Amino acid sequence: MANLKLSHIYKVYENGHKAVNDFSIDIADREFIVFVGPSGCGKSTTLRMIAGLETITAGDLFIGDTLVNDMEPKDRDIAMVFQSYALYPHMTVYENMAFGLRNRKMPEAEIKERVLKAAKILDIEEYLDRKPKAMSGGQRQRVALGRALVRDPKVFLLDEPLSNLDAKLRATMRTEITALHKSLKTTFIYVTHDQVEAMTMGTRIVVMKLGYVQQIDTPMNLYNEPYNKFVAGFIGTPQMNFFDVKLKREGDVVRVTFMNGDSVTIPYENVSKIHPSYLDGETVVSFGIRPEHIMLEKEGDGLKFIVTNVEHLGNETIVYGKLGDHLGEFTMKDEGNSIIVKVIDRDDIAVDDVVYAMPNPAKVHFFDAKTEVTLMNKIPPYDTLAAAVNGDKMVILGTEVALPETYKKAIAGAKELELNVPLEAIVPGNDFTLPVRKIEKVDDQRLAYLENGDSYLFALVGEDVKEGGSYGFSLLNEKISVRANGEELLKAVEDEVALTGTFSKTEVKEKGDRVLHFFYNIGDYTVETAPEHGYKINSIDGDDCYKNTYRYQISRGKVRLVSEAEAGLTGTVTDYLDYGNIRFAKVTAAGQEFLIRVEPGFKADKVRLAFDSQDISVYSTRIDMKIC
Ligand code: ADP
Repeated sequence: MANLKLSHIYKVYENGHKAVNDFSIDIADREFIVFVGPSGCGKSTTLRMIAGLETITAGDLFIGDTLVNDMEPKDRDIAMVFQSYALYPHMTVYENMAFGLRNRKMPEAEIKERVLKAAKILDIEEYLDRKPKAMSGGQRQRVALGRALVRDPKVFLLDEPLSNLDAKLRATMRTEITALHKSLKTTFIYVTHDQVEAMTMGTRIVVMKLGYVQQIDTPMNLYNEPYNKFVAGFIGTPQMNFFDVKLKREGDVVRVTFMNGDSVTIPYENVSKIHPSYLDGETVVSFGIRPEHIMLEKEGDGLKFIVTNVEHLGNETIVYGKLGDHLGEFTMKDEGNSIIVKVIDRDDIAVDDVVYAMPNPAKVHFFDAKTEVTLMNKIPPYDTLAAAVNGDKMVILGTEVALPETYKKAIAGAKELELNVPLEAIVPGNDFTLPVRKIEKVDDQRLAYLENGDSYLFALVGEDVKEGGSYGFSLLNEKISVRANGEELLKAVEDEVALTGTFSKTEVKEKGDRVLHFFYNIGDYTVETAPEHGYKINSIDGDDCYKNTYRYQISRGKVRLVSEAEAGLTGTVTDYLDYGNIRFAKVTAAGQEFLIRVEPGFKADKVRLAFDSQDISVYSTRIDMKIC
């Protein structure tokens, strides 16, 4: 039994191919985790890194509490089952299962006990004397599982174990492996390109694409709340329908207008988390609706289409069709006008029928046309507030508050501001009060729908805030992006300082031994780092590491102002940013400009800054990657 932790894992192959990027997950003991994605997305590479068959380029892998990056595969207490069963043809089933244990010099009596127990679990007791070639694919796969089982590992890794089997046997083995997982009470990590396998077996699924994790979630959450268009299209058959549309708020409804001019409406309440800027009737967004979430009507105000094909699959019927073109005629050639609908118990629909599709408003999905990320995040990323500038004040939500000095400088006389406020910038306080219309639990957070005219302002709130009550809050001005007429005038202050520098080593003799010391160099400042970080950087970039540049990131709160006498990065103060509640100095040092936090009243032309090596994250600028 074991839990696993993958923290910022990367894999760059010798040829420079970056197969896995920044993979992080906490896997609880006894979970059944599935890695799924199209061929080449990095599933096997990740699994092989966990097994120890592939080195980890950067990041940490823990099994239990032990860092195992450099541990030999045989010491990891992991068993791996491959797609090719990798059985020894000249050995019997018994010998195949006993082989690994014999190599470990386990007493024969114990080997026998383990093999018989595993054979019983897998129902292959009667084949123990057979050679693999006298067995079916399914039986061989059981032997391969048995070989892993006898080792009684902490973690089972399975790499497409069923892909050599026919469809019927695959379905049976799926059930068997799920049952095996339940009875063994062990952690399973399973790789497949088959989304049905993933959905039916995993307690949680990691969806990957081109080396990047797209979403980690339960099967139902992936199906109901896909984070992006890729996940939405990958999970579910037939695939989700996608259409380019424009959205327009019309009172209590949102009108969804398709490219051919046809439209349907959905209640605003179903899509209230979509940022208002997407509801302007101008911005093209991608609308997603699953075939099983569309109702078909012979007439009505749904989306009109012509049926091009009908597949009867017993109680289910799959209807394929084409939307009309902008002249209202049906066209077969344009992209993006096909539709698939799955209906139950209907035999009244035939090819060439003209029918109407009504999307279930509770099951609609919308994605940004460029980024393809959902517009219906469980927690919206930011709110937008209007601010009217009035001298040294601004009026937000009908309340007058001070206009921060920094805003005043940046807005150059603009009177109407748009504040993009990330939810973490809305904190309990007494500047504003809004009624709490609804509270929604999202994982372990509480999302409040605050009533703001005819739409909502979202905030994350504590237990004390109740539905039907009111919420008093203030804004953290420095975390807000300030815009006017669609143009960003002032960026939000980020939480980290990023500085570019180099890396070096010195070699000294200590008590007759050669000892290496490693340093991060930023301008005139040299920070000695722990040897393991030095070796890590060197192992990734080779001796080029002493020529490359690195990005050093430090949480702003960890940057200290020190006296001239101390070692540090020397900088020139060029400006101050006064946000009212918080103040920053704009500093130029080592040819770079950044902000440091300073006390009210602080004034200086020059500063010296210091930070500790353990507070610095190092990123490769050559291949965008967090090294340590
Ligand atoms: P998956 O298991 O999702 O099909 P893999 O993890 O096998 O994908 O491969 C991920 C990517 O890494 C692919 O583009 C593949 O071509 C590449 N790759 C795999 N092994 C190597 C290797 N030894 N050297 C270079 N590139 C590799």
